[in-house]
Amino acid sequence: MKKTGFTTTALNVPFAKADPHHSLQMPLYETVAFEFDSAEQIEANFKGEYIAHVYSRTSSPTVEYFELKMKALTNSSGVVAVSSGMAAISNTILALTKSGDNIVSGKRLFGHTYALFDQTLAEFGIEARFSDLRDKNEIESLIDSNTRAIYFETVTNPQLEITDIEMLAEIAQKHNILLIADSTITPPNVFQARNFGINIEVISSTKYISGGATSFGGVIVDHGTYDWQLNPNLSKYTEKFKQNAFIAKIRKNIYRNTGGSMAPQTARFQIQGLDILEIRVERCYKNCLALGEFLNANSKVQGVVYPGLKTDANYQAALHYFNGIPGTIMSFELESKESCYAFMNQLKVIRRATNLNDNKTLIIHPYSTIYAEFSEEERAAAGIRDTMMRISVGIENAEDLIADIEQALN
Ligand SMILES: *Cc1c(COP(=O)(O)O)cnc(C)c1O
Repeated sequence: MKKTGFTTTALNVPFAKADPHHSLQMPLYETVAFEFDSAEQIEANFKGEYIAHVYSRTSSPTVEYFELKMKALTNSSGVVAVSSGMAAISNTILALTKSGDNIVSGKRLFGHTYALFDQTLAEFGIEARFSDLRDKNEIESLIDSNTRAIYFETVTNPQLEITDIEMLAEIAQKHNILLIADSTITPPNVFQARNFGINIEVISSTKYISGGATSFGGVIVDHGTYDWQLNPNLSKYTEKFKQNAFIAKIRKNIYRNTGGSMAPQTARFQIQGLDILEIRVERCYKNCLALGEFLNANSKVQGVVYPGLKTDANYQAALHYFNGIPGTIMSFELESKESCYAFMNQLKVIRRATNLNDNKTLIIHPYSTIYAEFSEEERAAAGIRDTMMRISVGIENAEDLIADIEQALN
């Protein structure tokens, strides 16, 4: 059969096992343990000869179905769902590295990812070498025989820059290391990571995929395109699990032993989130464009940045990688910090909050919040000015968002 479109596929991924009541919706299996018919069957299960759920920290039916949907929608070879985006990132790096190893990472990162690399993992002897990802020579000069991966975000936030992914893939291939992308902002209906040479995707499903800020979750996606024998930290798994070595190590070691599993209730929310993902993103995008054009035309507003706008420096890259929909986050500037605060305080429809990809439109002043702990130099290096606001556009009616901005500007 011809491959169906994103939403048709989302709605029709088969259950792993037929539901005894022929439920159309995957039921919520809110349970901890599963029983066996006999002692022999339990033994067979623990030997890997009889596959069944045992204990929900390791696997459970509702979470499994969420993973199956993500697998179909990312066109990938293996998916593990975990408790948050940070759990997806930390589990991935822990599975690939050991003390003495390093990764090369972009400098512009989600704040807690930066802190994980710079503080938490550093204390265990895993080093992140931060690089300007536009600079091929700098990246290559940081790679050595202990480098396990190049790590980057598909669209940086709040700078909204898009890197040359083919260039990163070429460097990674040349040095036999992995290319890992955090594709949270560009969900699988707009970005098919596999087509651009990305081996592993990490996603905070808390954002778009949760269906509107319903729950915390993370997803690790293996595109099945890396030879795991190239990573010595996976050698225990490559012989037995071959191309599934990475997912096997996550399941049988890292995520099981650190206990970062996704809750069944979360999976239930996020299954629904995937069903409506495409239509939500389309609506957010239409709103984002309408707001961007309105802001661009207003004389009080400067520096509107959204790679979906034709005038944006990253517009061509947005078309090339994301079908023209590079997420639905935008930034813009007013004259001063005071005018930003006055503007934000006047808003009636748009909410002051730090999340992304909610159904509601959210605004934040990054300089005084997300970057509050950064020094003046660090903020300048990250391109964060106190005149700048970030907006994450939701699914309200565009005319109401524009009217809200218009009244708050005046
Ligand atoms: C939110 C976010 C994360 C972290 O996800 P949580 O679900 O909050 O743990 C990581 N990367 C990006 C790009 C994010 O926006």
